[in-house]
Amino acid sequence: MTDIGFIGLGNMGGPMARNLVKAGHSVKGFDLAPEAIAAAKENGIATVDNAAEAAMGVEVVISMLPAGQHVRAVYTGANGVVGLARKGTLLIDCSTIDVASARAVEAAAGEAGLDMLDGPVSGGVAGAEAGTLTFMVGGSDAAFARGKPLFEVMGRTIVHAGGPGNGQAAKVCNNMILGITMIGISEAFSLAENLGLDQQKLFDISSKASGSCWAMLNHLPVPGIVEASAANRDYKPGFAAAMMHKDLKLSQEAAAQAGVATPMGAEAAALYTMFVNAGNGGLDYSAIIKLIQGR
Ligand code: NAD
Repeated sequence: MTDIGFIGLGNMGGPMARNLVKAGHSVKGFDLAPEAIAAAKENGIATVDNAAEAAMGVEVVISMLPAGQHVRAVYTGANGVVGLARKGTLLIDCSTIDVASARAVEAAAGEAGLDMLDGPVSGGVAGAEAGTLTFMVGGSDAAFARGKPLFEVMGRTIVHAGGPGNGQAAKVCNNMILGITMIGISEAFSLAENLGLDQQKLFDISSKASGSCWAMLNHLPVPGIVEASAANRDYKPGFAAAMMHKDLKLSQEAAAQAGVATPMGAEAAALYTMFVNAGNGGLDYSAIIKLIQGR
């Protein structure tokens, strides 16, 4: 049994904290939103009045927050976790944030004598609820070894991606591939339709040929071919376009900071920006085919 402080009990953090409680760990949770606190209480999670209380007197602090600015505020802002956690506390941030913020916060934790991991996830709310998330983890070997049993409660696939920030790096690189390929698939299937090539025929050929890829096999953006596709359910997510947009923007920030040209990633980010700004952020990311088709 581990004493855990959990900060950020939203759509993802709430079920993750609940799974830790179910597995027999002692969790005290905090969220700024009264509705998240109420939902956590209903789910049997003990709650406290502020992040400082969640951070003190525990063995591990886990956070699941919206973005880098929130993570910086919670860990290194006034009354931040880094200044309050007792020596030896392991800090784990599971939010999806920019690589630079992750590395800055982890460096501050290190200076205070605290181990810290970045452990962003994929698998969405369904994965958080079922405890089947994939964790991409950055941080030292020793910190990873300490965090692994808790990741295994909340997830199914746990990968140590290397040193501090590498979990976030893995997440943005992977999702940049996904965003680019989804746009490529959308273009090819739209072209097929306009050339009089049946989309089922293109799928039968491409899914067995050099054009095949994970997004085509699992999230084909046209309906009636791949059972699991959101296209069969009016593009109800799934993985929301707003989330893809966020991750593509993070990949562009990372590319700019590293001085690396990612022209296809930049184009994908621009297309998702247009799509989301037109009010489509709540649709599945595969609905980007509507933009490609001019609909
Ligand atoms: P959410 O908005 O539902 O939850 C975030 C919670 O953090 C909110 O309840 C908010 O009140 C709380 N919060 C913000 N600032 C705080 C502070 N200073 N102290 C305490 N609580 C604070 O978001 P979510 O969907 O749970 O996503 C959380 C993270 O997980 C994001 O970084 C997101 O990109 C990532 N993620 C989400 C999904 C998904 O499908 N929802 C999938 C993979 C990764």
